Amino acid sequence: MHGTFTDNDLSHVISADKAHVWHHLVQHKPFETSDPRIIVEGKGMRVWDQNGKEWLDAVSGAVWTVNVGYGRESIAKAVYDQTMKMCYFAQAAGSVPGALFAEKLIDKMPGMSRVYYCNSGSEANEKAFKMVRQIAHKKYGGKKTKILYRDRDYHGSTLAAMSAGGQEERNMQYGPFAPDFVKVPHCMEYRKHELGLEHLSGAAFGLAAANLIEEVILREGPETVGALCLEPVTAGGGVIEAPEGYWPRVQEICKQYDILLHIDEVVCGLGRTGTWFGYQHYGIQPDFVTMAKGVASGYAAIACMVATEEVFDLFKDDPSDKMNYFRDISTFGGCTAGPAAALENMRIIEDENLLDNCTAMGARMMANLEALKEKHAVIGDVRGKGLFLGAELVSDRDTKEPVDEALAQRVVAEAGNHGVIIGVTNRSVPGRNNTLCFSPALIATAADIDQITDAVDKALTTVFG
Ligand code: PMP
Repeated sequence: MHGTFTDNDLSHVISADKAHVWHHLVQHKPFETSDPRIIVEGKGMRVWDQNGKEWLDAVSGAVWTVNVGYGRESIAKAVYDQTMKMCYFAQAAGSVPGALFAEKLIDKMPGMSRVYYCNSGSEANEKAFKMVRQIAHKKYGGKKTKILYRDRDYHGSTLAAMSAGGQEERNMQYGPFAPDFVKVPHCMEYRKHELGLEHLSGAAFGLAAANLIEEVILREGPETVGALCLEPVTAGGGVIEAPEGYWPRVQEICKQYDILLHIDEVVCGLGRTGTWFGYQHYGIQPDFVTMAKGVASGYAAIACMVATEEVFDLFKDDPSDKMNYFRDISTFGGCTAGPAAALENMRIIEDENLLDNCTAMGARMMANLEALKEKHAVIGDVRGKGLFLGAELVSDRDTKEPVDEALAQRVVAEAGNHGVIIGVTNRSVPGRNNTLCFSPALIATAADIDQITDAVDKALTTVFG
């Protein structure tokens, strides 16, 4: 066993977990006859479970979070020092790390200006949605309340965030949803036949996919649409980067129809794609940017809703109006552990050149995955950006029919047998999650990358021959 966990501790922890913990995203019936996996320790890229088994974590805490890797003493110390001095005060007042992190963050986000602290990606998105509604009332006489979201994108688990959820499988049992959220089509080139755009490719396809958003705006009436909320690279919906030509047109459409652009960087933020933020690859200027997972790499719960000064100004333009502010609070937005951890997390990313490492290791991993695609006919497409990559599994490359989800899950389990944790996603099609996903920590070495793709190679051979 790695560390100091005794057999006695272990059986107590497992029975306490089985008796009282409701795990996320999994069925519990199997725990009647087997034990849940309990992660006991982590260091660098690796974690150890309750049985002492070592795993190479290729998904940064299962959901794209631990960007700087496990066991960072300097982050733990920053949290310790800050919370011993001042742990919490509601964010109606300021805090030292809150001010310093906001300054450092905005320095990396030209054109952005104000940081609103909260504690989950869903919540950060809800803050922006509420602001859009308030702006509609303040500036547009109650019109422009509609928020557009995209097929396959995900923005969180709370009800308004789910109302902006483009992944059918996650939403199926939880309606009815909030009004005035309107879906626009996805922009996935691999599945462009679903959009009737199979005759186009590259930038021409990108432009046409963006124009599908304009069609929805014109159908709804531009005077009713307040914001467009998009992931820079779609994560859970199948690891999808928009094609060339898409983003400039999206920006143009937003300007033309006076629509605020909200970019959800909950996954891509803080380096995942090789730049500080995913949108920075595409030369666009958002009005809102939301972020969570990588902000403090999971060492503390922190999320940020970042807005431009123009948006901020709308909430302070008339001091005689007593309602003229954002009437919102997030209790734990006042925890200082979050910004203290986030400051140190950012220092690590800078000092260790992790953006460059992400780009280099992402290119290596992409090359490895391309080679696997040559070898395994079941891989229909490989895609992504930086250390945020996916491999879509299909039973037929011509029809692009997704493999049964059970087979994709078997690949995940087989990779686990080779000591590597990978994920599977693509929640648009119920029961057909078929995209293997990879998001190792930004500290990954060439040897780590090769170990991951080697395990995937072996797993694919075992499952598909
Ligand atoms: N947006 C995106 C793009 C996400 O992937 C997620 C979480 N997977 C969220 C928002 C919601 O974040 P949280 O779980 O912290 O509420």
